[in-house]
This record gives sequence, C-alpha cells and structure tokens, in this order.
Amino acid sequence: MSRGMPRLPRPLMDLWDWQSQAACRDVNPELFFSPESERGVRKRAREMVAKSLCGTCPVQPECRQHALSVGEPYGVWGGTTESERDNDLPEQRKSA
Ligand code: SF4
Repeated sequence: MSRGMPRLPRPLMDLWDWQSQAACRDVNPELFFSPESERGVRKRAREMVAKSLCGTCPVQPECRQHALSVGEPYGVWGGTTESERDNDLPEQRKSA
C-alpha cells in the first residue's frame, strides 16, 4: 500500500465526457427507447433507425462499453439493442 496522498477518484466529468460528442445529443430519446406496447415490425424499424445513427457516432465504442459495463437493460446503446447486449455478455449480465 502506498503512503502519502490518498488516491482520489477520477473526476466524474472524465467518465461522462464522451457523451458530449454523442450523435444523439439533440435527438428525441424516444428513438432509442421502446414504448412498453411496441412490438414486432414497428420496434425493429425504430431500432434500425436508431442503430443507423449510432453507426455515424464518433463515440459508439465508449457508449457500447458503458451499456455493457453497467448492464443497461433498455434501449439502443452503442449500436446494440438490449437483446443483442444480452446475447453479447449473458454471463456478465447474470452476475451483475
Ligand atoms: S452510439 Fe448511439 S446511443 Fe450511443 S451516443 Fe452514439 S448515437 Fe447515442
């Protein structure tokens, strides 16, 4: 264990700074989050539009990593839907 000054946590701004470059910053969040009653073709169409915007986003890797690391249960993040993230990391999601 090191002596001297205790380690301070990283500034929170560093953790969230990537969001300032998000392509979806000024987009209605309803594009990324499904209404409870949404199903089938309508849901897939909305997700496809959201994912196409993610495809242009300069911080897609950071966004996706955030969603995976916190186990975001809803919405399109980093070009992935909730079910795609479930498939990516089923073991990590179960143990969170
Ligand atoms: S990857 Fe998609 S959801 Fe994430 S910040 Fe970019 S546009 Fe928004």
